[in-house]
Amino acid sequence: MKKSLCSVVVIAITLALGSACSRSSDDDTAPAAVTPADLVLRGGSIATVDATLGTVEAIAVNDYTITAVGSNEEISGFIGPETNVVELNGRFAMPGFIEGHGHWMSLGEAKQILDLNNVSNWDEVVRMVAVAVDKAKPGDWIFGRGWHQDKWDSVPDDAVDGVPRNDTLNAVSPDNPVQLGHASGHAVFANDAALAAGGIDDDTEDPPGGTIVRTPEGKATGLLRENAEDLLLDSIAEYEGRLTPDETEQLHRERVYLAGEEALAHGVTTFHDAGASFAEIDFFRMLEQEGALPIRLYVMVRYQTNEEMDALLPDYRMVSEGNDYLTVRSIKRQIDGALGAHGAWLLEPYVDLPDTAGLVLEPVDDIERTAEIALKHGYQVNTHAIGDRANRETLDIYERVWDAAAVDGKDLRWRIEHSQHIDPADVPRFGELGVIAAMQGIHCTSDGPWIPSRLGQERTGVTSYPWRDLINTGAIVTNGTDVPVEPIDAIASYYASVSRMTSDGTRFYPEHVMTREEALQSYTLNNAIAAFEEDVKGTLTPGKYADIVVLSQNILTVEEAGIPDTTVDMTIVGGEIRYERAGGSKN
Ligand SMILES: [Zn+2]
Repeated sequence: MKKSLCSVVVIAITLALGSACSRSSDDDTAPAAVTPADLVLRGGSIATVDATLGTVEAIAVNDYTITAVGSNEEISGFIGPETNVVELNGRFAMPGFIEGHGHWMSLGEAKQILDLNNVSNWDEVVRMVAVAVDKAKPGDWIFGRGWHQDKWDSVPDDAVDGVPRNDTLNAVSPDNPVQLGHASGHAVFANDAALAAGGIDDDTEDPPGGTIVRTPEGKATGLLRENAEDLLLDSIAEYEGRLTPDETEQLHRERVYLAGEEALAHGVTTFHDAGASFAEIDFFRMLEQEGALPIRLYVMVRYQTNEEMDALLPDYRMVSEGNDYLTVRSIKRQIDGALGAHGAWLLEPYVDLPDTAGLVLEPVDDIERTAEIALKHGYQVNTHAIGDRANRETLDIYERVWDAAAVDGKDLRWRIEHSQHIDPADVPRFGELGVIAAMQGIHCTSDGPWIPSRLGQERTGVTSYPWRDLINTGAIVTNGTDVPVEPIDAIASYYASVSRMTSDGTRFYPEHVMTREEALQSYTLNNAIAAFEEDVKGTLTPGKYADIVVLSQNILTVEEAGIPDTTVDMTIVGGEIRYERAGGSKN
């Protein structure tokens, strides 16, 4: 790896020197003129994120890779009559953001259903559903997602576990089933019509790893936590079955298009998709062959049994080659739920729900079997773990599997997705074992204001988002948004990473902030490393993909409070300008 990078740099330097010679001399002993670049960006402050190259003024691109970086002077030799020259006029450019953990199809789908991210209270949710019901046909399902009770200005007095009962929803939608996903993705809210469609009545037992939340009188409130969500799946699948295969494909193509639009507008050039079935991967493969994937995907296999994976993983292993838009070499598992929905698996019970310490969503021995299968087929394992118990159990699983197989896990780059709350005893284990902490900066500041209500102040301070300790003990920390849990706003997550500034204006344990450089690396090179793709992505090193984002200002030097004002001006994927801001304000 190191060797090939060096040789690319050497080639680039030779090219740059060659160009200088050809311009300064017209005798025929001068080296042949260099091939002009297809694209040149110049006059900017370009962070290469490559320690040996540092910050440069200009960059030359041929086809889908970077040819050279350097001063305006050095790169001018690559400008020919056909070269598209982009004047940066002092703006900032950097490697395209890599979204380290998101949900690709859900991102697209979120654009097709009710967006409840920005509602201020439950009444507003009910009003939005009422409008949708007016437009719906009898029996149509109403879908929405993004609500979060802790972000509202008020909750109804008769709320159960802080979440409303579904009476008002039943009043506006007596006949149309309604399913509203929690922002965390770890609970849904259903009206009575949806509960009935799912066969849920007051006597239905909680499924393993899930809760049907009930009133003190025993009536289901509508809130279905974690695995209880699945009770609606059959009837939703039946409803979706009304579409012809062509209509379904069209719907899914639209999702990919909408997800791509969002990603590109936010400077994201690669997306780590935290979970797709083999069938979805087949669909992505078809789109890749058509050249229809808007950005590059690093897809984790999910929703398949261990038996299916053991049989089919070899057929689905796709490592990056050429100008690659689809990589598959990892598996996603999920040991616990989310803190907001009291699903994160904790070492001690919740302060505000003392009868539980969270939920185990997928059995430890089943995940362990997956890890063995992954090892056998050369796949990476990426396990969702949020609570401190979940993180410990996952580290234990990884260690046990490696020990049993007598392998050094360090080269395997297995990840823990989110790794939000970690007991201090387990923090150094990430660095020691080589387990990647696949975190999302924005979760910290978004959840910060209410985390102490779940964990209490002391545990929050000791276990929550310990980036500084992770980095200092040698862990690779990645970054992202978990979109659609949070908007796919890399600038917002970068700002959260360097400031830990929450919405209420306080800093959440600021001793753990990342430096600007660390945060930039977490969003580029570290995400590339977490996907085994640092030889083609993550820095603007000659020879790598020309995946570049142009920002309105330098996020390494602008005053901290000004970071969120940064706009994404241009997004380039494989040398192709795929997004340009129309001008005016952000978005
Ligand atoms: Zn996720």
